[in-house]
Amino acid sequence: MCNDYNLVTNINFEYLLIAWLVNLMRPSFDELKKELNMRNINLSYQRLKVLEYLTQNQCHPTVDHIFTDLHKDIPTLSKTTVYNTLRILVEVGLVRVVTIEDNETRYDIITENHGHFKCESCGTIYNFSMDIDSLTSEDLDNFKIKDKDVYFKGLCPKCLSKYK
Ligand SMILES: [Zn+2]
Ligand SMILES: [Zn+2]
Repeated sequence: MCNDYNLVTNINFEYLLIAWLVNLMRPSFDELKKELNMRNINLSYQRLKVLEYLTQNQCHPTVDHIFTDLHKDIPTLSKTTVYNTLRILVEVGLVRVVTIEDNETRYDIITENHGHFKCESCGTIYNFSMDIDSLTSEDLDNFKIKDKDVYFKGLCPKCLSKYK
């Protein structure tokens, strides 16, 4: 269900570079499992499947996406289990909540600061690396900043190639 970088037919160098940088941020399932073990968090088979799904589908899925896809393979899986697993993973800091549209909560396996680009044509949300920490403004000197989000909109290379 995810549009992955590999599916792009019109590959240009810039795009490969972005995909490569994002891959550097991408944690592997094994690394995350190790991390959970170190913190003495034991996840059941079903819960591990949710984690695995997030490492394999980096399109910032919603609970519904995750549930619909996994339910095909694990018919006993409930939506509550998906919710609870995500809650735990967010609590321990392995997964981040992304709200790009107000009405939609999405989940991101990349917890390092990065920007998001939403393609207005295909709806895919792409990650891009960016030094968000260095974004500052004197206007906010007396404010306490809790979160910084960088969100771009436009057309992705795949959709742009359709208009050429
Ligand atoms: Zn697109
Ligand atoms: Zn992201």
